[in-house]
Amino acid sequence: MAYDSTNIFAKILRGEMPCHKVHEDDTALVMMDIFPQSKGHTLVIPKAASRNLLDADPQTLSAVMPLVQRLAIALKAVTGADGIRLAQFNEAPAGQTVFHLHFHLIPVYEGVPLGA
Ligand code: 5GP
Repeated sequence: MAYDSTNIFAKILRGEMPCHKVHEDDTALVMMDIFPQSKGHTLVIPKAASRNLLDADPQTLSAVMPLVQRLAIALKAVTGADGIRLAQFNEAPAGQTVFHLHFHLIPVYEGVPLGA
């Protein structure tokens, strides 16, 4: 399916909608998830326009993955989480609800179920 630039993350990237921004560089914007599955749930949103992993430019992926790794390490240290889940969904049947490529970094705390 084609990319639709009216999605909420595209609006946030254009500055048309607010967000709790954690980091921004030429490659990506990083923000807190509005409905966190755990304390510290963070979203990494590449700036390049792609619907999801299936139509993403490989250059975008190679630029953003080192950032995802750095954020995962920092997030684990800052939150004191016991682990970090990296999640990414492609198309509605797979759980995607916002159709601009993004990566979830979800801190996991032993004994605390996600969504609690
Ligand atoms: P997915 O498309 O991978 O299922 O998840 C989209 C994620 O974006 C969800 O975790 C949802 O809570 C989050 N989300 C949806 N709308 C907004 C928004 O306006 N601001 C922020 N910060 N997160 C959002």
